[in-house]
Amino acid sequence: MEKLRVVVWNEGRHEKSDAAIKSIYPDGIHGAIVNALNRNGSIAASAATLDDPEHGLPQRRLDQTDVLIWWGHQAHEAVSDEIVNRVYGRVLAGMGLIVLHSAHFSKIFKRLMGTSCDLKWREANDKEVLWVTAPGHPIVQGIDDHFVLDREEMYGEHFDIPEPDETLLISWFSGGEVFRSGVTYRRGMGRIFYFRPGHETYPTYHNPAVQRVITNAVLWAKPTEAAKARYGHRPTPV
Ligand code: ZN
Repeated sequence: MEKLRVVVWNEGRHEKSDAAIKSIYPDGIHGAIVNALNRNGSIAASAATLDDPEHGLPQRRLDQTDVLIWWGHQAHEAVSDEIVNRVYGRVLAGMGLIVLHSAHFSKIFKRLMGTSCDLKWREANDKEVLWVTAPGHPIVQGIDDHFVLDREEMYGEHFDIPEPDETLLISWFSGGEVFRSGVTYRRGMGRIFYFRPGHETYPTYHNPAVQRVITNAVLWAKPTEAAKARYGHRPTPV
């Protein structure tokens, strides 16, 4: 069986400039996620970062990508519109897209959603409990009815996204806020999953439950056989 081709895209700048973040993610956030994904025998994951030529996403590489994962924070505006257009086109053509944490404000997610994607936030070591609201969904396979992150950045409602196709996880934070932390969409032929946790100063992407959800999401978001559509003029019936 051919392996699923996954590219983990990361801004990748904090890990170079901040010693505390580098100590949590010596191979970058992208490296931690690539390593976790490649433990699954059906996935072949590799990394791309903002400062690579063409942000690591030349057209020929995107054309050979089944699922793209996106993490960004402070440099959303540094992503060129040309690359955003490429990714957008590939999603509509059937490539899966998994949007992580602060990539809620990425150009590609805002374009696909068509809303501001704004939210409330706080960096204060909140405890986060993620509750499963769609038991049996493939993305939460292997997760009990909840899992806990001892320390995370808080994201709170209202989260300005279109009503999701499916809401799989809702977070509670120790400050009392709640948030839709795992939501799915389809745009064109592509499947999209937004997954909230993953602030860069916490070891969230080393957490087994978080890794499990991302791995499940990759398997769910892969292009489907049906992702071929025909458009245009139809002959008049005789
Ligand atoms: Zn953050």
